[in-house]
Amino acid sequence: MKDIEEFRQNARKITNWISDYYSNIESYPVKSQVKPGEIINMLPANAPVEGENIVEILNDFERIILPGITHWQSPNFFAYFPANSSFPSLLAEMLTAALGAQCMKWETSPAAAELEEMMLNWLKKMTGIPEDFHGVIQDSASSATLCSILTARERSTGFDINDSGFTGQQLRLYCSSEAHSSVEKAVKIAGIGKSNLVKIKVDENFAMIPDELEKAVIEDMEMGFMPICVVAAIGTTGSTAIDPLLPVARITSKYNLWLHVDAAFAGSALILPEYRNLIEGIELADSLVFNPHKWLFTNFDCSAYFVKDKNALLSTFQLVPEYLKTKTDGQVNDYSDWSIQLGRRFRALKLWFVIRSYGIKGLQDRLREQIDYARYFAEKISQEGRFELMAPVTFNLVCFRFVPDKNLNPDEINAINEKLLHSINNTGRIYLSHTRLNNNFTLRLHTGQTYVEKRHIENAFQLIIKISDEIK
Ligand code: PLP
Repeated sequence: MKDIEEFRQNARKITNWISDYYSNIESYPVKSQVKPGEIINMLPANAPVEGENIVEILNDFERIILPGITHWQSPNFFAYFPANSSFPSLLAEMLTAALGAQCMKWETSPAAAELEEMMLNWLKKMTGIPEDFHGVIQDSASSATLCSILTARERSTGFDINDSGFTGQQLRLYCSSEAHSSVEKAVKIAGIGKSNLVKIKVDENFAMIPDELEKAVIEDMEMGFMPICVVAAIGTTGSTAIDPLLPVARITSKYNLWLHVDAAFAGSALILPEYRNLIEGIELADSLVFNPHKWLFTNFDCSAYFVKDKNALLSTFQLVPEYLKTKTDGQVNDYSDWSIQLGRRFRALKLWFVIRSYGIKGLQDRLREQIDYARYFAEKISQEGRFELMAPVTFNLVCFRFVPDKNLNPDEINAINEKLLHSINNTGRIYLSHTRLNNNFTLRLHTGQTYVEKRHIENAFQLIIKISDEIK
């Protein structure tokens, strides 16, 4: 290969660049400060006719692209949920790109399929997900939830809709009013219709009220609808609320409904024995998803999906055209039969690198440390006197708001908090996001960044206080 020496030199440049980037990551504005159109206006309208030198491309990467990047790996990134990476994950991702394997079937890379099977077995043992569940890596929790809802749709209709399309079935699904929008998206894509997604009321901690669920199921049956599935959340996006799994599972068992558990973010906490009680009743569920790409130091994308009835999943998705037939069909896991896409990246490798490199104990220590940081921040902000905690701090997320004067009306408090959020983020020094809880504009700060330290939490606290003093 004539370019190999050039590749070697460029690869060194890029790994050096990556090392410098991580050394200096705190010097970049966490949230990109560019205006819409700023980046596209710097890009040539036409692709180059002649090939260009990698050094020139790298220069333009720094000059044009980097200012338009929000630095998700910065320890000052406290917004949304983390999409955390780590050095072992990054190294594995380099190898994945180097191999460039397309792992659609066992035969197209046996190691990818078998490592995936074993990594998901490891995750089951690490989290307490029952042994009789079968795991597969999906690109995202949204895709996993879509797979789950499609499988529920098919199993409950005798696989008829796959075959003949809808023939008048009026299917109903249920989730809490705090569930992630991916549930509604899946219901739309699955052809069920979002008006057939029933949002169940939540309690004062934003968790689904099981009695309300049962009432809705009974009412729907009386009206001639066909309830098929409930999605329970372990860690909602807004506030990490936890739907009571066991009571919900008793209802789904009673009415023979598919139960999917969306633990996209908080599922990683199940590696801590003290959090296992959150999935009490899991043996009654049909599927669960959680994202190592959120809070298990494995870079995006890596979503772990577990399903009990593997045959229902396969019957929903499997389709083997002639060119994909192999001698091992039926004897091995061909993971393209387990999900929507045919082509698959080798995602298990980064999970292997991460779990081996941290060890279970290392991962547990890091998660506990980050949960302690959240408790520390929550205590400080609530002791300050002018802030309110808006939801229980169960994992590493703190939901809070600024109330400088008790006489302000709700709209004024919301407006102040919205202004506070933008003023904080415009500094570029830290990045927070928001939600609305009971219609109250709420700031969210998570402490789940891979390389976050206590000093970053201290600095974030000081900055929030300073900006609050300036805007009040
Ligand atoms: N479910 C919950 C509870 C989430 O918080 C999120 C994203 O934050 C998702 C699902 C969607 O995750 P993904 O981006 O992997 O589709």
